[in-house]
Amino acid sequence: MENLGSRVEFHSHSIFSDGALLPAALVREAEVRGNIGLAITDHVDASNIEEVLKGLTKFERDTRGQLPIKFFPGAEVSYVAPKYLPDYCRKARRLGAKVIVVHGESPSEQVYPGTNHAAVKEKGLVDILAHPGNIVEEDAILAAQNGVYLEITARRGHKEGNRHVAEMARRYGAKLVVDTDCHKEDDLITQEQAFALCKEAGLTDEEALATVRDNPLELVKRIERR
Ligand SMILES: [Zn+2]
Ligand SMILES: [Zn+2]
Repeated sequence: MENLGSRVEFHSHSIFSDGALLPAALVREAEVRGNIGLAITDHVDASNIEEVLKGLTKFERDTRGQLPIKFFPGAEVSYVAPKYLPDYCRKARRLGAKVIVVHGESPSEQVYPGTNHAAVKEKGLVDILAHPGNIVEEDAILAAQNGVYLEITARRGHKEGNRHVAEMARRYGAKLVVDTDCHKEDDLITQEQAFALCKEAGLTDEEALATVRDNPLELVKRIERR
C-alpha cells in the first residue's frame, strides 16, 4: 500500500454547538490521532451564527502560531430551509468561517428536502455537502461542476448513505472527503480508519487514496487562499 499521507478533519463540533469539547481539546485530540489539520464547523442557524463564529475566529486569532496542527474556523449550516441556505452560507463566510459545510439530507436526520440541491447549485458557496444520503444524479453533477466535496462519513446513522454517495461521486466525477462529524474525542479517526471507511463504501484503492490523501490537501489549499 502506498503512503496514505496525513489526515485533515473538516467537520467537527465543539461546545459552541452540540459538541462536548472546547476547541483546544479537540485540536489536541485530533493531533494525537495523527491529524495535521482540523476545522471546527459548529452547527449554525439564526439563533447562534454570530456567537459561534465570534468564538471560533477568536480562538483562531488568539492561538495563531501556538497550535500543533492547522486550525480552521468553520460552520455547518444546519436545518435551514433551502431558500435561505445561500444567505446563511454567505453570512458565515462574512463572519470569518473558512470552511462552509451544509448539513445534507442524511438518511438519519430529517432536514428539508432540497437542502442537497441548494448546497451544490452555486460555485464558491459551500465547501462540503455533509452526509448527503440519497443524493440524486443532478446534484452529484452540480457538486462536480461547482467544486463541492461530497462527504463519506464516519458517523453512525449517516454512514448508511456512504455506498450510494461513493457511487454517485464516481459516476459523475464529484470529489469526496472523509469526515467524522465528531462531537467528542472518541469520534475522531486516524488516516488508516478513514481509508478503511472508503473501502467499506466500495471505493477502489486508488479512489480511496485520492479521497483521504489528495482531496484534503487540495481543499486545504483552497481554504488557505481565503
Ligand atoms: Zn451535531
Ligand atoms: Zn455535523
